[in-house]
Amino acid sequence: MNQQRQAHFLDAIPFEPDLPGLIKRLRIRPESAEEREFSQLLDTSREIARPRAVFLTAYITSQGENWVEVAGYRFDSRVLRVNLDGVYRVFPYLATCGMELQSWGDRLTATSGDPLLQYWVEAIKEAALFHAVRAVTDQINQLAVPGKTASMSPGSLADWPIEQQRVLFALFGPEEQRAGICLTESMLMVPTKSVSGIRFPTAVDFESCQLCPREDCPGRRAPYDSALYESRYCATTGLTE
Ligand code: SF4
Repeated sequence: MNQQRQAHFLDAIPFEPDLPGLIKRLRIRPESAEEREFSQLLDTSREIARPRAVFLTAYITSQGENWVEVAGYRFDSRVLRVNLDGVYRVFPYLATCGMELQSWGDRLTATSGDPLLQYWVEAIKEAALFHAVRAVTDQINQLAVPGKTASMSPGSLADWPIEQQRVLFALFGPEEQRAGICLTESMLMVPTKSVSGIRFPTAVDFESCQLCPREDCPGRRAPYDSALYESRYCATTGLTE
């Protein structure tokens, strides 16, 4: 099975948070005492944070109508199967803000109990996760040239339920767990600011949000397209055997 996958570790990702951007996003008044407090907090976090990521180059080993097997691990999703039609190599990935920042934030918020501090800490963890995701996406895109890539994550659509996180984590062996991400019984990832998914080469732009009708989602990356499932993913769509 090892010949069907190779691991790549990114454990020296620089954390250079955008202070003005964060201040604007958190609606902190410029030149205020709050701004100075937040700036000090960010400086401390910069010393501590170790965002990390790990990804695999892995090969499709089998496929059916509504499932696809990657390096021997079966994923049940019609949308993933159609998106991977004609693709032979994919890039499963895990990215995280890092356990160092998680522990630092847990200690701070447990001792202070201040909801504003908790909000700021979560924003800093998100910024570190953003750095990890950007780093892993850049690395994968370099390997996947020429052409573009897209990503899907278990749980982002009803078609690919969150329980499939177990399969994704099983695909990453114990060695790859050195990225420091754990999956709990309830399918939550720890550190809490972590993401998982499979990135793949694609000829057409794809975001799960195109198939997700959820309204007022702050994370939406593309408009909902109510006709897309029918036109691209329904059972009558022709697939490669
Ligand atoms: S719209 Fe929101 S909930 Fe739906 S897939 Fe996109 S990010 Fe996820």
